[in-house]
Amino acid sequence: MNELTVYHFMPDKLNLYSDIGNIIALKQRAKWRNIKLNVVEVNETEGVTLDNCDIFFIGGGSDREQALATEELSKIKGQLKTAIEDGMPGLTICGGYQFLGTKYITPDGTELEGLGILDFYTKSQKERLTGDIVIESDTFGTIVGFENHGGRTYHDFGTFGKVKYGFGNNEEDQREGIHYKNLLGTYLHGPVLPKNHEITDYLLKKACERKGIPFEPEALDNTEEEAAKQAIVERLEKQHK
Ligand code: GLN
Repeated sequence: MNELTVYHFMPDKLNLYSDIGNIIALKQRAKWRNIKLNVVEVNETEGVTLDNCDIFFIGGGSDREQALATEELSKIKGQLKTAIEDGMPGLTICGGYQFLGTKYITPDGTELEGLGILDFYTKSQKERLTGDIVIESDTFGTIVGFENHGGRTYHDFGTFGKVKYGFGNNEEDQREGIHYKNLLGTYLHGPVLPKNHEITDYLLKKACERKGIPFEPEALDNTEEEAAKQAIVERLEKQHK
């Protein structure tokens, strides 16, 4: 049986609003394709290498936990950057997305250094951006999720999508998340993968391509997933009328 390995970074600190559901979705959709997905939880990075990692995942967390996680992950930031540049697929949520940038400025003006993997920054305010969100993505189509963040992120990279309902990166430019090579960063909790099978399959497909494992995109029946997503979109359409 073909196998893939996902590295789940800092699950002891970063797991808001059931972010762990993203791992469950990856596992399940891999299993339906006869691929065994191994999960390696990485809470301490000393001596860790990414040699056996096919996909990585980082969830969201409070400012405090995010700062602790950044400190731990800074030990392998060079490796992470190299892997991202090399096309390793990764999904990072909210706090996990924010600290890939150069800095995170807290509401009281304190500057927390980010991993500096990509050149962008986040500035937080006391007033939080919260609620269900719908975005339109060139790569994935309609995507739904839930957001709750004080951080406003600004960058010129490609995005995850354009905000239809909700806030996204900030309340100004209708841009949501980041899409750089095969790295996805997003404010969407939900968890996002069970609600959006297209993104789950994207991560699995990219990992399979890198490893030379065949991937059948059309192999699964997504009728129920599509209906669930449609129900969320319709509910939000009514709310925003
Ligand atoms: N620091 C983040 C914020 O903007 C954390 C939120 C999250 O990961 N949900 O509030």
